[in-house]
Amino acid sequence: MILLKNISLIHQNHFDIEKGHLLIDSTKAGAYRFIELEEIPTYTEVLDCEGMIAMKAFANGHHHTYSTLARGMPLPKQAPKNFLEILEKIWWKIDKGLTAEMNEISAYYTAISSVKNGVASVIDHHSSPSSIAGSLEKMQTAFNNTGIEGLMCYEISDRNGQKISQQSLKETRNFLEKNMGLVGLHASFTLENNTLKEASKIAKEFNTGIHIHLAEDIADQADCEYLYQKRIVERLEEYGFLELQKSIFAHGLHLSDKEKEMLKKSPAWIVQNPESNLNNQVGYFNGQGLGDNIMLGTDGMHSNMIRSAQTAYFTGINFEPINMFQVYHRLRNSNKYIEKTYPNTKNALLVMEYDNPTPIIPENFLSHFFFGFENSQIKHLIHQGRFVMRDRKISQIDEESVLLESQKLAQQLWKRL
Ligand SMILES: [Zn+2]
Repeated sequence: MILLKNISLIHQNHFDIEKGHLLIDSTKAGAYRFIELEEIPTYTEVLDCEGMIAMKAFANGHHHTYSTLARGMPLPKQAPKNFLEILEKIWWKIDKGLTAEMNEISAYYTAISSVKNGVASVIDHHSSPSSIAGSLEKMQTAFNNTGIEGLMCYEISDRNGQKISQQSLKETRNFLEKNMGLVGLHASFTLENNTLKEASKIAKEFNTGIHIHLAEDIADQADCEYLYQKRIVERLEEYGFLELQKSIFAHGLHLSDKEKEMLKKSPAWIVQNPESNLNNQVGYFNGQGLGDNIMLGTDGMHSNMIRSAQTAYFTGINFEPINMFQVYHRLRNSNKYIEKTYPNTKNALLVMEYDNPTPIIPENFLSHFFFGFENSQIKHLIHQGRFVMRDRKISQIDEESVLLESQKLAQQLWKRL
C-alpha cells in the first residue's frame, strides 16, 4: 500500500480538485481512495506530497519502439526529397538493420522514457524485417519488466517481398495465440490484396483489430487510386477492418469527406501524431468530420504525451477549429482505448511537482496543462499499486545500463547502414 499524504488529485474529466490523503491499494490493482490518517493500514508506505498534484497517467496511442536507435544517426548523403524518400532512405534501412538485441534494448529505452513522461501504457507498431520471430514477446516483456503495459503489433508489409510478409503474418499469429495485441499493417501502398485478406482473417479469429498507417502522405492515396481505383478507406473497408472496434488508423491526413464519414460511422480509432506530421512535412491533421474516436500518439519521435497534446493544440487552433478541451479529450481517448484491453491502467497515477504561479481551479486547469505543464515536473508513476518510478528513478530497471547498452548498439546499427 502507498499513501500519498496531502496530495491534490485532479479528476480527469471535469477537473475537480480533491485534496487529502490518497491510499493506493496494491491488493486491488492499484485502486485508490481518500482516507483519514487514523485509517492508514499497516505496511503502508507514506509519502508527504504537500504541494503536489496527482492525475491519471497518460497512454500513447501510436508509438514506434524500433525508432529508438535512429536518434542522432548520420543522415543519408542526399537528403530525402519527400515522404517516400524519408521512408526509403531512413526508416526502411534502419528497420532492416535491427537485431533481436536491438529490439529488446529499444523496448527497454522506450518503456523507461514513457515512464519518465508519465505514460503507463503504449500502443506500439514494430518493424524489424531481419529479426521478426519472437520480437513482439521480447518487447512486451521489456515493457512489463519496467512496470507498464505495451500493446504490441508487428508491421506486416509486402515491401520486402512475400517471404518477409509471410514471416510477419506468422509472428502476428504466434504472438496473438498467447497475448493480447493487434494485427499490424504498414500502409495501403505497401500491402497487396492477399496480405490484407490474411491479416483480416487473423484479426477476426483473435477478436482484435488492425493497426495501420492511413493516408499519412498524399502518395498513399494516389497509389490506391491508381492501382485499385478507390480511396484507401474504401479499400480497407472491403476487408472488414472498419467494423473492428480495436482497429487503429494512424494519421489520416488526406481523407475525403466520404472517407471521414465512413470512419465516423465505424467504431475504429484514428490517432493524431502532430509533431511527426510537422517533421515529415506531410500535412496537417484535421479531425473535423471524423467523429469522437480520435486519440493522440507520438509516432516514435519521443514518448512525451504532454508535448504531443500541446503541439496538437497549437497546430490545431490554426488548421481546424479546435479548443483545449477537445485536444485534452483526444489525449484521454488513448487511455479510454487501452483500458479496454488493460483495465488496471485505469488506476495508474502520475504525481507532479508543479509550481503554479496562479491558483489551479477546475475552470482553468487546461490553461495550466497547455501553458505550464512539462514532463520534467513528473516525479512519481504508480501502476498496479506499486511505484514504477519514484523521485524520477525507475524502480525495477537499471536505467544507466540500458542507456549504455543502447548507445553501444546504436553505433553498431549506424555502422551497418
Ligand atoms: Zn507511425
